[in-house]
Amino acid sequence: MQIWDPTYECMPREEIEQLQLERLQATLNRVHKSVTCYRKKFDNAGISPEDVQCLADLAKLPFTTKDDLRLNYPYGMFAVPLREVVRIHSSSGTTGKPTVVGYTRNDIKMWSNLVGRVLTAAGVTHDDVVQIAFGYGMFTGAFGLHYGAETIGASVIPMSAGNTEKQIMIMQDYKTTALVCTPSYAITLASRMEKMGIDPKSLSLKTGLFGAEPWSEAMRREIENRLFINATDNYGLSEIIGPGVAGECEYKCGMHLFEDAFIPEIIDPETCEVLPPGSVGELVLTTLTKEAFPMIRYRTRDITSLDYSKCECGRTIVRMRKTMGRSDDMLIIRGVNVFPSQIEEVLFDIEECEPHYQLVISKEGAMDVLEVHIEVTENIFFDEMKKQRAFLEMVAKRIHSQLGISASVKLVEPNTIPRHEGKAVRIIDNRQK
Ligand SMILES: [Zn+2]
Repeated sequence: MQIWDPTYECMPREEIEQLQLERLQATLNRVHKSVTCYRKKFDNAGISPEDVQCLADLAKLPFTTKDDLRLNYPYGMFAVPLREVVRIHSSSGTTGKPTVVGYTRNDIKMWSNLVGRVLTAAGVTHDDVVQIAFGYGMFTGAFGLHYGAETIGASVIPMSAGNTEKQIMIMQDYKTTALVCTPSYAITLASRMEKMGIDPKSLSLKTGLFGAEPWSEAMRREIENRLFINATDNYGLSEIIGPGVAGECEYKCGMHLFEDAFIPEIIDPETCEVLPPGSVGELVLTTLTKEAFPMIRYRTRDITSLDYSKCECGRTIVRMRKTMGRSDDMLIIRGVNVFPSQIEEVLFDIEECEPHYQLVISKEGAMDVLEVHIEVTENIFFDEMKKQRAFLEMVAKRIHSQLGISASVKLVEPNTIPRHEGKAVRIIDNRQK
């Protein structure tokens, strides 16, 4: 297995931290000078860039949130004049205006290199044919992986999202070896292949890089067993850079986070206090190399933990655990914290279960009630009521034993849970209404 950028991926910890501090100080000086939002935030907090003398001082700085980005729509958070920006992306907001991010020529180069590291860690080389089934457009996923794959010399097929049967035809004819898409789309592809009578083993596919939505270990096993590939996870978000923040090595024991470019912190999402290494909490990221769109202590809303112990692969940089969900998605059901990913894990472990499910939460009196809806498939079709009941009880029992909450499990008609080729709607919370 190879390492794309050993200088930065295998740096001794002391050197990483020294580099981070130097880059952090330079970044703070720059944003204080050229981004009004940061200057105001720092001034309000009574802190100046000179006050940051060690990495621990980072905790004194105010957070940046998606609201800051919205308030400064579209270009207010840019640290360079627009003439130096060569690319603009944005992330779709479900409510209100999208958030807009920009890249200078250097930013694009850095980004491509970081994604090159992700691809290399996943085992992709210049011999691979990479099919990108993320939607091309304002979303950073497709372009990020595209540039990264070109950087390491792989052959890129810019297929974009959707058009499932054509995706499969291209895979067959162009001998795709690496697939890039969302994990739920990988399942869609596997199901369609089964329907079309195509044996995934007859394809050249070896590796998958899946991201842009949280997914469980059980879903990984499901994808690996159905597509006969090595399924890897990687992490990124457009506000920080897009894909290229972190990626798994062959040991799949967390995603190596590129610390020469980003400083990660884990905070308690309620109190905002920084938690010690190993704690589960919300990931906060600070960028260290970005010119056009630096981010200081950006609250990602993603829940994970950090592991600084040594990895077998030789990389010295920290690993972040697979994200468990968004802090916004964290459901509190009768006082218990529940992530949809935990329910997903239970469902995948039950062999008959396809991953199409939805959680519906409502209130009965003062009591939270959780319903888990599962779509009927050929595997979960029971003509006998008794068998059906036994199945539903078994699922409820497993949820109770693994999560400590009671849920009523219901079967729903096939294709009634809304989904698009990318993300599935997993939660309906009727408690506020
Ligand atoms: Zn590793």
